Amino acid sequence: MSAHHDTSEPPRAASTTESFFAPVRGTFAGIVTLSAIGAASSVVPFIAIVELARTLLPTLNGSALDVTRVWVIVAVAVAALIISFAAALFSGIVSHFADAELQFSLRKRIVAHLQRLPLGWFDARSSGAARKLVENDVVALHQLVAHAIHDVVMAITIPVISIIYLFIVQWQLALAALVPLVVTMALYMIMMRGTGEKYREYDDATAQLSGATVEFVQGIAVVKRFGQLGRSHRRYRESTKEYVRFVGEWTNETAVLFTIIEIVTSPVVVLAWLLGAGMWLISIGIATPIGILPGILLGLGLTSPLMKLGASAQFLRNATKAQASLTEFFALPTIAWPTDPATPQRSDIRAQDVSFSYDGERQVLADINAACAPGTVTALVGASGSGKSTLAKLVPRFYDVAAGSMSIGDTDVRDVASSELYEHVGFVFQDVQLLRASIRDNIRLARPNASDDEVVAAAQAAQIHERILRFERGYDAVVGTDAHLSGGEAQRVTIARALLADTPILVLDEATAFADPDSEASIQRALSTLAAERTVVVIAHRLHTIVGADQILVMDDGRIIERGTHSELVAAGGHFASMWQNYQSNHARSLPEGVTP
Ligand code: ADP
Ligand code: MG
Repeated sequence: MSAHHDTSEPPRAASTTESFFAPVRGTFAGIVTLSAIGAASSVVPFIAIVELARTLLPTLNGSALDVTRVWVIVAVAVAALIISFAAALFSGIVSHFADAELQFSLRKRIVAHLQRLPLGWFDARSSGAARKLVENDVVALHQLVAHAIHDVVMAITIPVISIIYLFIVQWQLALAALVPLVVTMALYMIMMRGTGEKYREYDDATAQLSGATVEFVQGIAVVKRFGQLGRSHRRYRESTKEYVRFVGEWTNETAVLFTIIEIVTSPVVVLAWLLGAGMWLISIGIATPIGILPGILLGLGLTSPLMKLGASAQFLRNATKAQASLTEFFALPTIAWPTDPATPQRSDIRAQDVSFSYDGERQVLADINAACAPGTVTALVGASGSGKSTLAKLVPRFYDVAAGSMSIGDTDVRDVASSELYEHVGFVFQDVQLLRASIRDNIRLARPNASDDEVVAAAQAAQIHERILRFERGYDAVVGTDAHLSGGEAQRVTIARALLADTPILVLDEATAFADPDSEASIQRALSTLAAERTVVVIAHRLHTIVGADQILVMDDGRIIERGTHSELVAAGGHFASMWQNYQSNHARSLPEGVTP
């Protein structure tokens, strides 16, 4: 074993939140500038109309018309209009380029990081987590880049410029025009008070509902078997009720405020308010009728950008959440694949002083030493939670050992390239899930080029061929859509996959429970086909299946406490002997046909 294994810390991706945006930082500045220019020049035509009115209206009373001034105003208005359209157009184009660039670089990084994660990460979480990263989180950032930045800049710039102009020409009415704005903002703040908490509750309720839904739908087959449909259904019903209650309550709380905001910002109300205030200013001799015109024209346009800001707030919130989850994802410790990979020369397995922990605290495996000679069967037995599955997963490097080494043919698995490793080690684990793809593609996952005949041969050997033919679309039936498989059937599909992969080493984690003895017998037949002439590590729950194993390792609390053949262990009269006795008295009568203990 080379020295670097003892010392190397799991490498962490050195990524900060900012670096998501690094490739597009320059473009961001461009979007903001263009949006600001667009917003500023979109206000100019309104100001021009006001100025035009202020120039033209006095001529009704016989004043001389300043023709040059009129033409300058018109020219400025037209120029501003053109600039604002051009700026909006360019800002849109630049945003979408930046967005495409960002999505591309993020997706590339996600895929690269996924490839460097230990395989164990994928069964610890639902495949939904990875999909959520690629779909929802990247899309949330898309909304931020492609839409929200532009909207926010517009929503801020337009009112700011309008107000500055208003204060210059008629500050009293400018103050009046601020009132609807301030009232709206105050109402928003009341509405947003405690939203952080509310949104967290909302997220919890949503997560719980989808968790319960998934459990309810996926679990039907398993749960039914144990007569516990009621329980998962109850959880589903309760989550739904809780969700509906929460959303209803929240909607009630905010509906009143929302209505008030809509009223306060509606053009009719704003117009009435500004006219009233303007009349009053005229009546007390502070303003002239022409003087209040700018306040009324521009005051009307102040609140609508603010409403847009409300919509953008939701985008911002999603984007912030997406950023957090992406940051968390990129911080996951990765596995270091060798730069100078070695090829295992034989198919024996050796664990040397292996210890392991999932969280770096609680030791799950300690001082594991074991060797499996080529072509032999090694069975792992022991109480639930004793570490059997964990030990088995170290062989195909689902996780890395904390200390010691796991090697194949004298080559540490950490020195083997991933593609090479999966050509050597096949596995059928309890929690291996099928992909939402055709049965054919599921079977040939490890060998995508396998011919249809080879797929069928593997399925036949795995005792699942006939079941597949009963689907309307046969091998083209898509798992979870038109092919619904029981736990035992799904496991036989993964056995077919392992058969087709044809690896010299096989790691099998048997399912703990089967629907019926027929199914168990089929799986046993499939497994014995699979095991022939390979180095096999099998986690067996039905002890009669491992009577002929070359060695049995008895595990307890993360350690191997006994080892030997079946007859040696029974003769020794230790832990295994009493397990065996127990097993025989409990299971003797329920053994599947054709299997003798
Ligand atoms: P067995 O297969 O013998 O039932 P496992 O290897 O599954 O035992 O589990 C050994 C211990 O490790 C248990 O205490 C279990 O709770 C813990 N464990 C298993 N999988 C994980 C995981 N993905 N994350 C954290 N702890 C785990
Ligand atoms: Mg297990």
